[in-house]
Amino acid sequence: MKSALPLLVAVSALCASCTAEEKKEKPMETASTAPQQPTGKVEKTEEEWKKILTPEQYRISRQAGTERANGDVYKQFKDQGAGTYYCAACGAELFTSNEKFDSHCGWPSFYDPSKAKNVITKDDYSGGMVRTEVNCAKCGGHLGHVFKGEGFDTPTDQRYCINGTVLKFVPAGGAKPEPKKEEPKKEEPKKDAEKK
Ligand SMILES: [Zn+2]
Repeated sequence: MKSALPLLVAVSALCASCTAEEKKEKPMETASTAPQQPTGKVEKTEEEWKKILTPEQYRISRQAGTERANGDVYKQFKDQGAGTYYCAACGAELFTSNEKFDSHCGWPSFYDPSKAKNVITKDDYSGGMVRTEVNCAKCGGHLGHVFKGEGFDTPTDQRYCINGTVLKFVPAGGAKPEPKKEEPKKEEPKKDAEKK
């Protein structure tokens, strides 16, 4: 018997892995109007998340991934003016430009959430380190990590090190979040239209 088969399998496996490489970095989502705020927990199946998130957002938000440091998203973040940052997965408000600061770490940094109740933290022992993971409280999506006591000249000396890929930016001056529908205002004078 010839032993060519194992080699063939090995070669084809190698080729499959090199085509799977991602090349293009998608920018941070930006919108002119604030997303509707989730009223309770947002729960979806993995398949549903895959439908509404880009592959990179899915990898970070649902699989606790990390975006490339100092990438295009970070540059975009540094250039952004005043505005609000929402969870790209569920729309919950997380941070604003008021808490944004330049930590030079290569990822979007904030010293505090703008809506503390929309952010939860938990101990993360992955990767041989002890870190504090930051998640969206509404959908559970992974956002990044928070570090304390690094000596930054900010009101909290905390650094919320966040993946910009899983944020949605709405520049200030855009429309406010849609208020909950208040029906009484809508009166359509249908009958008047039938004037003689
Ligand atoms: Zn969320």
